Amino acid sequence: MPDRINIRVDHLKNLYQLHDITFDVLRLDLIHPVISGNKWFKLKEYLRLAKAENKKNILTFGGAWSNHIAATAAICTQEGFNAIGIIRGERAKVLSCTLQLAELMKMKLYFINKTDYRNKYIPPIIWETFKKEETFIINEGGYGLPGKQGAMDILSGTAKDYSHILLSAGTGTTLAGIATAASTQKIIGISTLKNHFGLAKDINALMPEQLQNRFIILDNYHWGGYAKYNSQLIGFMNQWFLKTGIPTDFVYTAKLFYAVDDLIKMNYFPKSSRLLCIHSGGLQGNLSLPKGTLIF
Ligand SMILES: *Cc1c(COP(=O)(O)O)cnc(C)c1O
Repeated sequence: MPDRINIRVDHLKNLYQLHDITFDVLRLDLIHPVISGNKWFKLKEYLRLAKAENKKNILTFGGAWSNHIAATAAICTQEGFNAIGIIRGERAKVLSCTLQLAELMKMKLYFINKTDYRNKYIPPIIWETFKKEETFIINEGGYGLPGKQGAMDILSGTAKDYSHILLSAGTGTTLAGIATAASTQKIIGISTLKNHFGLAKDINALMPEQLQNRFIILDNYHWGGYAKYNSQLIGFMNQWFLKTGIPTDFVYTAKLFYAVDDLIKMNYFPKSSRLLCIHSGGLQGNLSLPKGTLIF
């Protein structure tokens, strides 16, 4: 991947004109078909550290539909690392599309049960194939300071014209980067997990003290929990695509755009607000939906 990339901003001039709201979308989903969205930004600093430490293998954790696993597999192939994925739960007879993709990109997968996964247990059998001292470990979801450091580059000059920046939050690493890099904007994160009470604390832990709490987390747009969806959300995704031409994923970005649309219609934002929504990618996750669910 190049060091710097130009990211497209869509100006949806007419969409919320009646509400006197300017609405732009930062299209991180367009930067790469697999390493899409925020994942490349979150991974790049880890890879730089791994290279500096002469590591040959990258090990990380994820579930069967993890965008982080897919992105790590792709970036490792590209940058010449062996990729090791520790996957939550038993190996299914037919792997999820995400894991099939990861294996196609030569990631070696190891499946562990949910309790072991919670403890981030690394099965010793891995060290029969890979040397421990040559292995660099990345947290689940890329959570950590290097992840935040990389995410600080997402805005790269685009932010100054906006009053609010909105994005989806899982671990909150991306939000920590955006909130650290942004100067005056209000940062709003839409949490994708249910009852994720530690999220703000996790984000603050990645930020310098003087910048802590310069963000708001909204936790009532998770649709029942992580990766949960219903026909109303699917209907919204199809309508949104017809209206804006922007495809969304059902785990993160559909819930973000739904929330923003809802907030605008409830007059949450002051008149003349200028919003930037970050499309953080994740479209490969839609492959888990039944065929024909989405029109894009
Ligand atoms: C991983 C992911 C997120 C969450 O990013 P965090 O930095 O963990 O908050 C948001 N959107 C998409 C599409 C993702 O794949």
